[in-house]
Amino acid sequence: MLLRRGRRASRAAVVSREARFAMAALVELQNVSKTYRLGDLEVQALRGVSLEIAAGEFVAIMGASGSGKSTCMNLIGCLDQPSRGTYRLAGLDVSRLSPDQRAAIRNRKIGFVFQSFNLLARTTALENVQLPLVYANVGFDEQQRRAMALLAAVGLRGREHHLSSQLSGGQQQRVAIARALVNRPALLLADEPTGNLDTESSVEIMELLLRLRREQALTIVLVTHEPDIADYAERIVTFRDGHIVSDVAHQPTRTRVEGMRR
Ligand code: ADP
Ligand code: MG
Repeated sequence: MLLRRGRRASRAAVVSREARFAMAALVELQNVSKTYRLGDLEVQALRGVSLEIAAGEFVAIMGASGSGKSTCMNLIGCLDQPSRGTYRLAGLDVSRLSPDQRAAIRNRKIGFVFQSFNLLARTTALENVQLPLVYANVGFDEQQRRAMALLAAVGLRGREHHLSSQLSGGQQQRVAIARALVNRPALLLADEPTGNLDTESSVEIMELLLRLRREQALTIVLVTHEPDIADYAERIVTFRDGHIVSDVAHQPTRTRVEGMRR
């Protein structure tokens, strides 16, 4: 009798722990506002945004230019802080941390990919990918090993010693993705990652992101104004004038891409 009750109790405990885990949001913005001040001018870039993103989600953020998408990404990425409201990342309130504390969290938890690639110009692909590991105080051999492995994972084996300027746009964005992932972040933030790429390279980059997401259990938040790109995501959040005006589950029509389903 005792044993039975004990077993039942422990099973209940396990279930509730799993349920709590499933519910815990990786990203949790609560009523977040962001006001920029330019001299006397105030720009309200975000006006009370609440958004929860669970671990493993692939979310596309859409909306007109100036609607607050990049501001929101910068907050999620701990590049900036909310003027009002709360931001919890993996349960930790990061809305009021010092710049150094935010930098430490960025380095461990978050990878960024931008429209303009942001690689160092007269620097090789390998060195660009190694750089975050230099900041993370990883030893040189380990830096090289991990950077080489990621460059291979993004399809750039053999290009490790090319300078950024010797690579095509699509290749540069692959280097940027490898650099974003070399610290094994939980969260990948991509702001218009295909904005400077032709259609073919865009499709390649999106397929790469899908594959990496599966292989590395990533959570991806991606800003785009292109419906074809948002179509890869499983959830689409739309901004207008600093508000979220829609947040819907989405069935990607591109799930047939190579490697997407196993
Ligand atoms: P989106 O990425 O959707 O185009 P942003 O988040 O970049 O929009 O911008 C939202 C609003 O905030 C715009 O009106 C923009 O001009 C303003 N803004 C963005 N960044 C800054 C900044 N650093 N200083 C002042 N205003 C800014
Ligand atoms: Mg933007």
